[in-house]
Amino acid sequence: MAKPKAVMTSTELRLRTCIECRQRCEQDKLFRCVYGDRGAVIDRIGAGRGAWLCGVKCAQQALRTGAYAKAWRVEVDQNDLGEMIRSEVFAGTERV
Ligand SMILES: [Zn+2]
Repeated sequence: MAKPKAVMTSTELRLRTCIECRQRCEQDKLFRCVYGDRGAVIDRIGAGRGAWLCGVKCAQQALRTGAYAKAWRVEVDQNDLGEMIRSEVFAGTERV
């Protein structure tokens, strides 16, 4: 009899680390930000290196600490980031 295959029910696979507070969360609870032609945008499925954030608080803090540049390994336009953080995707999340 064949051994039952390991069932991938573990959430471990879907965990992502917030680039700012390093907290690990399920990816659907985090925001994925990518930096590309459109500047910094929140995009769950888009191509490019993703920077995961757990909320607007970390999004703002990461702006001060330079965590985006580390995550994306590029120089990032602060204005682009400011716009992304103010975007409506973050609206309704935790206020600082
Ligand atoms: Zn965080």
